[in-house]
Amino acid sequence: MPEVVFPLDSTKKFTEQEKLGHNRWHPDIPAQVHVKRDSTFRVHCREWFDGAIHNDDSADDVRDAPLSTVHVLSGPIAVEGAQPGDLLVVDIVDVGPIPQEDSGPLAGQGWGYTGIFATQNGGGFLTEQFPDAYKVIWDFRGQQATSRHVPGVSFTGIVHPGLMGTAPSHELLAKWNAREGALIATDPERVPALALPPLPQDAILGGLTGDAFERAAAEAARTAPPRENGGNQDIKNFTKGTRVFYPVFVDGANLSMGDLHFSQGDGEITFCGAIEMGGFIDLHVDLIKGGMSTYGVTENAIFMPGNTDPQYSQWLAFSGTSVTLDGEQRYLDSHLSYQRACLHAIDYLTKFGYSPEQAYMILGAAPIEGRLSGVVDIPNSCSTVYLPTAIFDFDVRPSANGPVQVDPGMGVPRSSF
Ligand code: ZN
Repeated sequence: MPEVVFPLDSTKKFTEQEKLGHNRWHPDIPAQVHVKRDSTFRVHCREWFDGAIHNDDSADDVRDAPLSTVHVLSGPIAVEGAQPGDLLVVDIVDVGPIPQEDSGPLAGQGWGYTGIFATQNGGGFLTEQFPDAYKVIWDFRGQQATSRHVPGVSFTGIVHPGLMGTAPSHELLAKWNAREGALIATDPERVPALALPPLPQDAILGGLTGDAFERAAAEAARTAPPRENGGNQDIKNFTKGTRVFYPVFVDGANLSMGDLHFSQGDGEITFCGAIEMGGFIDLHVDLIKGGMSTYGVTENAIFMPGNTDPQYSQWLAFSGTSVTLDGEQRYLDSHLSYQRACLHAIDYLTKFGYSPEQAYMILGAAPIEGRLSGVVDIPNSCSTVYLPTAIFDFDVRPSANGPVQVDPGMGVPRSSF
């Protein structure tokens, strides 16, 4: 096992750990760990809400999920010799949940969760159809995930970090705040918000204290969006064996990571949509000096996905076009056509006895594939969502016999009002 350079004790809160991570992006957050080029090391990660979501049958915790506290990230990790303009080469050597024998009371040890955020607290891809909070608990056995809240499905997880990235420079941070602020200003009262401005409340900035903390907390970027530094890309194919090339914006690169997922469908459509967990990640790092200009990787990371994905060979796919549910024609709107494809799949699964919420959770958590199938055939873009048929315990394909009925069990826990 590689040396654990960022240890976490799963019985303690994030702020009580031996090494303090962070939950905002800022160039002044000092590195907590220093590693050499061409080295391999282990990092522990807390699940993104630091244990606020419980293994029970109520969604009140998801309804009240403290979005100002996310994401709790491990790092920053400085890489010796890294300078702005370099590419940081990160290999995901291994990634997984904390082993069962280390089981503690907090999320991520043998189980994880998927939630639907209420429109009032984050929303999601289909928030118009699903405005309330719901939660599903998933149990892990080896690579398999099952849920007492969604009978009739089991699938092989596609374990990956939802969030990893390098620290921004002061210049880059100012650019983020300017462009996101301008977007918010177009409709500041919108629910859910168009973007999340800097928020000193609940900011954790590693080793920063005093005036330096106050100054940084007022401008530090929230971790929800993916940006030029990587960040919360939620790419399900960042599995074991992946190599990522991140632009370096500050000396040392200052790499951070967290938001581990046991599994996720393309799009992470319920927003809390992966199977969220705590765990470990083993990384190898190296540098391509001056690589940003050599390869033109100045904005946004590039990567080579690992090849340890679940092996599913048969799919049932649903298509959608850029026409609203009310029948209004939109011009090549691929966001809308993917929503329509997902709603199409949800509607189909309800014919087998699932509630719409159960079906939505399956699309968020199982390793479904989403594709932009056509983006030029005016006026309709065509998006598709592919469900592996083998994740269902029954035959999910259409046939002359009609759909078998699954016992919906206790269903998906909702929140009280
Ligand atoms: Zn996540």
